[in-house]
Amino acid sequence: MSGAGKTRPEAAETSAGRNRTEPGTLYIVATPIGNLADVSERAVKVLAECTFVACEDTRNSGLLLARLGIKKPLVSYHEHNRAQRGPEIAARLRAGETCALVTDAGTPAISDPGEDLVAICAAEGIPVRPVPGCCAAVSALSVSALPSRRWVFEGFLPLKGAERRWRIAALADEERTVILYEAPHRLAATLSELADALGSERPATLCRELTKLNEEILRGTLGSLAAAYAEEQPRGEFVLVVGGASPAGNGLCSLTPEEHVARYVEAGMTEKEAIKAAARDRGVPKNEIYSAVKG
Ligand code: SAM
Repeated sequence: MSGAGKTRPEAAETSAGRNRTEPGTLYIVATPIGNLADVSERAVKVLAECTFVACEDTRNSGLLLARLGIKKPLVSYHEHNRAQRGPEIAARLRAGETCALVTDAGTPAISDPGEDLVAICAAEGIPVRPVPGCCAAVSALSVSALPSRRWVFEGFLPLKGAERRWRIAALADEERTVILYEAPHRLAATLSELADALGSERPATLCRELTKLNEEILRGTLGSLAAAYAEEQPRGEFVLVVGGASPAGNGLCSLTPEEHVARYVEAGMTEKEAIKAAARDRGVPKNEIYSAVKG
């Protein structure tokens, strides 16, 4: 792996195995998604030993640290200041300080800030170590009763527009189990759009308020979940896990290539984009789809 190599796998393993909080290192620290008892012993140790904590919301993380009996300087790092704050944090790490990055809940960089900071540090050869723990997506998958050997994380769908339609259309043929995050006020619309595009009989599990007092795990189909939430104003935090398309395919690949492309065009793609997407879905060269469409 020429050029990749500032953190060779052997080097990373050796250092992480020492179980010592190293100076000049960025720690990606997972925190609970509801139940404080889920914080790991190692997370507490790294939070207690780091020089400073970078966090999404200083009030939230301040509360977490207070509950853990830890006092540390907090630096805010979020969507709106990450371009400026990322290089500042990297400079402190280069100077030998140790940073623990946390978010409001779960694993940083998973639908949360962190990705950029990790990329900056990786590019500069600054060691980055995971302190694994809670992640709402993986927790939901683990109780979904849906196939968990192969799965894909979709995160939050785009709020509206062509990109949302394409992403939903592309999920129709996804054979792996799909994990989505959704805000409560958008849940009903998303369930109903997914039921329309993927089929109302598609198995799905909706996980609400995981590890909290009102935890709820509803197993059904996209249709039954959409019906359950059509009237009720949902509250809390949700992860939706959707079973994959059957390989035999009720989705786009069971259509003719012309119909397949037409579906994507209806969803807002240009014909060129639709041909490319259909070729990718069907695992065939673009020319083959082009010839079928153009005759
Ligand atoms: N980084 C986090 C992780 O590792 O799970 C995810 C952060 S993302 C901004 C927040 C979303 O995660 C929520 O809108 C919800 O979809 C999901 N989520 C977080 N905590 C949850 C919980 N306790 N129960 C269900 N979903 C949760």
